[in-house]
Order: sequence, then C-alpha cells, then structure tokens
Amino acid sequence: MPSTFHIGFDDTDSSEGMCTTFLCYNLVKELISDTRNELLDYPNLIRLNPNIPWKTRGNAALAIRLRSSLSKKNLFALCGKYIKRFATSPRANAGLVLFEGEEIPAKIQDFSNRAMYSVLGLVEAREIVREFCLESISLRSNQGLIGALAAVGNVLPSDHTFELIAYRKSLSKPRVLDKSKIVMMSEVTSSKTFSSYDSEYDRIMIAPHGPDPVFLGIRGESAAAVKNAFNILCPVENLRGWMIFRSNQGTGEHLREPISLDNPKAYYSGKTLGTVCEAPRTQIGGHVFFEIENEQGKIGCACYEPTAVFREFAKMLTVGDVIEVGGGIRKNTTLHPKVLNLEYFKVVKLAEKFTSSNPKCLRCGVSMGSMGRGQGFRCEKCGQKSSASKHLIEQPRGLTEGRIYIPPVRAHRHLTKPESRFQLTKKRSIRVKLINGWES
Ligand SMILES: [Zn+2]
Repeated sequence: MPSTFHIGFDDTDSSEGMCTTFLCYNLVKELISDTRNELLDYPNLIRLNPNIPWKTRGNAALAIRLRSSLSKKNLFALCGKYIKRFATSPRANAGLVLFEGEEIPAKIQDFSNRAMYSVLGLVEAREIVREFCLESISLRSNQGLIGALAAVGNVLPSDHTFELIAYRKSLSKPRVLDKSKIVMMSEVTSSKTFSSYDSEYDRIMIAPHGPDPVFLGIRGESAAAVKNAFNILCPVENLRGWMIFRSNQGTGEHLREPISLDNPKAYYSGKTLGTVCEAPRTQIGGHVFFEIENEQGKIGCACYEPTAVFREFAKMLTVGDVIEVGGGIRKNTTLHPKVLNLEYFKVVKLAEKFTSSNPKCLRCGVSMGSMGRGQGFRCEKCGQKSSASKHLIEQPRGLTEGRIYIPPVRAHRHLTKPESRFQLTKKRSIRVKLINGWES
C-alpha cells in the first residue's frame, strides 16, 4: 500500500553557489522517474522569516509531498543521499525531515506558522522530531533542521504564488538574456506575473548574478502563467531544465502577526498600528527615521536609502498621522534602541497640516507685522492696525488615505507582497497538473 510522505529540507545553500531549489529539482527528477512515486503538489518553496540575520541568502526551505510505495526507510535513504551530495559547503547547515502521514499534525503546522515571523530554536525542533517519530538528518550547526521542519508544516493553504526556476548547464558561461524580450514578457503577462522587471529603475529582476545554477526565475499567479511567460523568453541557451514551485513568495506571509510595542522582540516580523509622534528626519546616508506610538509604547521606524521612492513617501508623514506599519525588528545596540525596519506602511488617517501667515493690510495688500503675542498686527507701510488672527492654510499632503506604500521592485524581498497582488484574495484548491521540463 502506498503512503503519503512530506519531505522538508533546508539550507543546502552556500556562498559557493549551491542552491536548495537545485537539490529539489534533482531529487524530484529522480523521484518521478520511478512509477512507484506520485507527487501530490508542486514542490513547495517556503520562504521563512527574512529578518533573522543568520539566515542563508533567501531563507528558503523546500517541501516535496508525494504518495509512494517505497518504504519510509528507502525513501529517507534516497533523500539523505541528495543532502550529502549537494550540501558539501562547510557553510551549508543542511537539514532534512521526513514525515509519513496524510495530515500534518497541528503542532508541526503551528511550528511552521511561527517560523514565518519569529525566531525558533533547535531544542523545540528536536522535541517535535522526537514526539512525532520523524526521520531527520542535520549537518554542521544543525540549524537547517528548523527550516526543514517548518517546510513540512506549511502546506500553503491560502494565498500562494508560483515560480518557474530554470537551471543552467554550465556555471562558467555568463547568463545571456534578451532584455527587450523580458520587458515585453513583463508587460504582456503583467496581471499574471510579478517582479520580473523594475520599470522605475530599468532593471531585470528574474536572473540572479551569483555563481549558482539558477538561470532565471519567473514569479506569477499560476503554474500556467509562469510557463507561458517562460515560453515567451524561449529558446534560451545553456539550459539544463526547469521546474515549477508553489510558494509563499509575494504573499507578505511574514507580516500578518501583530508586533507589540510593549516589548518588541529582536528579529521578529509583523505589523502594528500607531500614530506618528516624531516627524521623519533624514540621516547621513539618506536613511529616513521617524517614530510612532500607540497605547503599548513607542518605536522608531527606519526606511533605508535603497528603498528610494518609498523613503520619499515616508518623508511626507507628519506628527498625528495614523498608519499601519509592517517590517522586522532590528536588534538594539549600545548606541541605538530597537528599530522597526519598514517593509510597508499604510495610511489610515492623515492629520491636517497647516501653515500660518500674518493677515494682509486691507489698504496696501502687504503682510502685516505682529505687535507681540495676542497684541494684533500692524502694517509697517501705512501703520494700519488689525486685530485679525493668523491665516491658516491647509497643506496638501501628497499621501492618500487607505493607500499602501511599499519599496520599489528592486528593493523587494522574496516575501514582499507586490502592489499588483494587494487586490487579490486567493483561497482556492490546488489542481496539481505537474508540468516540469528536463533537458539532458
Ligand atoms: Zn498698509
């Protein structure tokens, strides 16, 4: 009788150019070449809390879900072989977890949920592995066990996206991509793909620059959409093959939980509502800081220079504005308290902002001078006096209530929800019709 298995792995990345998705690509290729295995979903590409400083590049963990007639022991041995073959870098703190069963236990799902926004420890991960008799391997620092377990438990039940990742044959050849084709693809498929091209900065976003085997990655709303976008770019040279992943990228999943300003925890991600209590100021390097408060406390908010136009919008905030902010808590240092590194803000209510001016002389039309507090005004030209009060002029704000402001595409993180996705609600079932491609 075949059983259901969930395989999670993490942190086979390293700066020397390996990539956890490439391990997944190769493992899936071997798994589906055996008729005893049947994938139940696209491989899941799970991005975890991006505000943990000791993460690997993208903090990506992966899960493969399948029905298999292989024994648990044989399947685990096969996966372990891949971990050992690929995670060879001394920096790859790889982890592998295998769970057998249809339903993921609530405790594992809860662990995965917390992995999105908090900092989890190895002790807890090991306890869960023991409690549910999971098969596991972890190498070096063993940190990868946390991500592997978190990947098993996140079945992407609600909002999700897809990414087609294509791999190259030779790592030494430069990636050759036709920019005009990518710009065209991005325009033609704009409602169904996202973050392919930053038109504001004329920058291609689908190809990495490092030494890794990834040739390109196209993100979108459905498997068909990313495949279609890829077809527009084909043919491309030096391709080993491609695979489509289902993912939480572009969903903002790490920013759903509230952050308490009472005692915000370092490296946690989330959101909170507050009133601007200290106006934005620009510091050396072009970084913008302001402060918000609510009944729980106060916190400084930071928008860094690379967020460019986002920072310009933040500068337009003023004391009294009510905003929702999302981001990650930066650890305090001896010089600075904890800061919320902003990933978005939403204007809830704008304060009215006025400038005042002295009344004008009715005879001469020039601005009158003040005779002192509460003493009225006097025209310096003709001597005419006036008891009128100052004119208040409401200033246009440049910000819109209800609007969400986010950094430009080039400054997005994998989990950043792009503007085009804010109107979407996706709670549909996943029809699994796997379309993957292999070459040589
Ligand atoms: Zn006058």
